[in-house]
Amino acid sequence: MTTAVAPAVATGPARLHLSESPYGPSPLALSAARESLALTEIYPDPARSAPTAALAAQLAVAEQQVAVANGSDELVLLSALALGDTTRPGLTTAGTFPGYRICLETVRRGCREIALDGTSTAVAEFAAAMPAAGIAYLCNPHNPTGGVLTRAELDLLVETAARTGTPLVVDEAYLEFAPAGTPQLRDYLDGAAPLLSLRTLSKAYGLAALRIGYAVGRADLVARLREAQGTMPFSVNRAAQAAAVAALADRPHLERTQRRNIEQRAWFLSRLAERGRAALPSATNFVAVAVPDSAAAELLLARDHDILVRDAGRFGLPGHIRVSLGSAEQLTRLLDALDVIAPVG
Ligand code: PMP
Repeated sequence: MTTAVAPAVATGPARLHLSESPYGPSPLALSAARESLALTEIYPDPARSAPTAALAAQLAVAEQQVAVANGSDELVLLSALALGDTTRPGLTTAGTFPGYRICLETVRRGCREIALDGTSTAVAEFAAAMPAAGIAYLCNPHNPTGGVLTRAELDLLVETAARTGTPLVVDEAYLEFAPAGTPQLRDYLDGAAPLLSLRTLSKAYGLAALRIGYAVGRADLVARLREAQGTMPFSVNRAAQAAAVAALADRPHLERTQRRNIEQRAWFLSRLAERGRAALPSATNFVAVAVPDSAAAELLLARDHDILVRDAGRFGLPGHIRVSLGSAEQLTRLLDALDVIAPVG
């Protein structure tokens, strides 16, 4: 299988470390971004009105339930700054995206981490810790394992948020890659629980360089995020706002990316299996591949093979490297290199 890769990416190292899209953005989004540059001397819309309206319509929520930001990174920080009881430490899981812990520590709230149960979120233990927490962060689909929560697990977490008042922030950066019907926070937003979903256009929409993401959730939480955004009123630039609106409207491009990612995932997992290499099942655009020494593998792949991957040990999941589902050529190079540097077993 061959996949289109942007020329600048094709000539550099194989970038399989940041879950970027090898399929790029919608051409319509790129045109919109280019056109927006005609007004470069004018500040962007601080209300982010156009992408906010487009997202609210797409998600069938009120505009007051959507906050658009400079990537979901900005929303992790703003939520840590502004939501919940800030005198109490936040809660997250070990073995996940480190942004939650970093932001909670940076704003001096502190952070408690619940260890993974193997490679799964220990949901009952997490829910039991929520009453004492000022805010709770989960990643679903989970980075770096690629797993998803079940309906019963999400039910329990949402009920706990409703009962305790502890805001539950679910980072859904990879949701677009998960099978249709995968339980998601949007399913619960018509209730009264203090919920916030974080989403991004960096992954499935291929707009990582422009920096745009959004939160959708209970209106009072979103209002507090927007208030905190008053410190950076122009954080979402004009090109990002224009590109997002066009990208959201280009369903065929998104669906093509989703389809190709599913094919690429199945192909890569079967090549791994042929070589006897274990990997975790994934609902995302990356796969956690088992290796004997993940720190050494990250280093050697970069140094000797010009292939960038993430040692999931950095996130508390040692023994796995996280590999983005890049092009077939990149993934074949990786498989061959892994055979040399980290033979199975
Ligand atoms: N959350 C998760 C789980 C991520 O993996 C990433 C990016 N790697 C982000 C948030 C940040 O995404 P953005 O580009 O929207 O800031």
